[in-house]
Amino acid sequence: VSFYWAEASDASENGIPVQYTESLTPHLRCLQGTNQRPPRCVLLEGTVGVSVACRLHTQRPSPCREFAASFEDGQPHDRCDQARAKHGLPPLTLADWL
Ligand code: SF4
Repeated sequence: VSFYWAEASDASENGIPVQYTESLTPHLRCLQGTNQRPPRCVLLEGTVGVSVACRLHTQRPSPCREFAASFEDGQPHDRCDQARAKHGLPPLTLADWL
């Protein structure tokens, strides 16, 4: 999960704290744990397939904000379905949001 370096900040209320990121290129950083196999963001709490949450949801970087869960907006989203399939989970449906 990479993003422009300026989205990381030492001011904890603005952007993702630098301590949870690592340098990728001179212009890009990524969330720790997301540049490994298998990827797991250092800020993800819980057990995938049971219950998970982002520890800094309100400060998450742009790629996280732009990633849509299937049917949260009434539409399927292939990347969400693919991510869930990698963990053996079925795609979300409209019923999951009701
Ligand atoms: S939403 Fe939160 S837990 Fe998920 S990748 Fe982004 S920062 Fe990490």
